[in-house]
Amino acid sequence: MQNAKTENELRENLEKVCRKIESAARKANRKADEIKLVAVGKTHPAEVLREAIAVGASVLGENKVQEAEEKINKIGREKAEWHLIGHLQSNKARKAVELFDVIQSLDSVKLAKRLERICVEENRESLSVLVQVDLANEKTKSGVLRKDLPEIIDFLQTCERLKFDGLMIIPPFFEDAEKVRPYFKQLKKLRDELLQKDVFANKIGELSMGMSNDFEIAVEEGATIVRIGTAIFGARKWG
Ligand SMILES: *Cc1c(COP(=O)(O)O)cnc(C)c1O
Repeated sequence: MQNAKTENELRENLEKVCRKIESAARKANRKADEIKLVAVGKTHPAEVLREAIAVGASVLGENKVQEAEEKINKIGREKAEWHLIGHLQSNKARKAVELFDVIQSLDSVKLAKRLERICVEENRESLSVLVQVDLANEKTKSGVLRKDLPEIIDFLQTCERLKFDGLMIIPPFFEDAEKVRPYFKQLKKLRDELLQKDVFANKIGELSMGMSNDFEIAVEEGATIVRIGTAIFGARKWG
């Protein structure tokens, strides 16, 4: 009964994460139902993801198109809401449009142009995107630098198919999760400034921030989407 055991573990982990989200939300005077949990299944096989769906995970995140394709084909495109959370290479853009409900990792005008064009070509009515922001000037990471944000946001205003629905951040890693709090605060401030300019298609401006190590802090600081892998699926062997 290997599977049953895994299913129980997944259920417990998922419940634990949900309880932590609830208490962090309460602490910040927020409602837990404003926060969407993305279960990040990268490196874990389709069978495990299927079990996660069975015990209540309804939104799944993947960071590589090819890996996601294999798993989505096995599980079924309609069985969950699928989010791309990793850098998207332009030669995988068409595949990504086919596979994902939300692209959280939009990081260049060039990619936005390509996605908009592909949506037209493929008759994809609308595609929700978040712009990945790099607030730490980490040259090694993807993400739009603060100074380059106006250009991509202006472009997104002209798109018919791409829906600019919010911001995403992968802050620098710190052992001490408290050290990421300033990045979460900055991202929320930026989102609030953009709300004033009415640039979001959904009128809300999602804040995708917080991973296994720091999601409670992210929720306290206003996250509307948290992306959680390890705390649900356990440690990754690779990736
Ligand atoms: C892997 C990954 C996560 C989940 O990380 P955990 O620390 O395992 O929760 C979240 N966001 C992105 C962009 C990732 O690549």
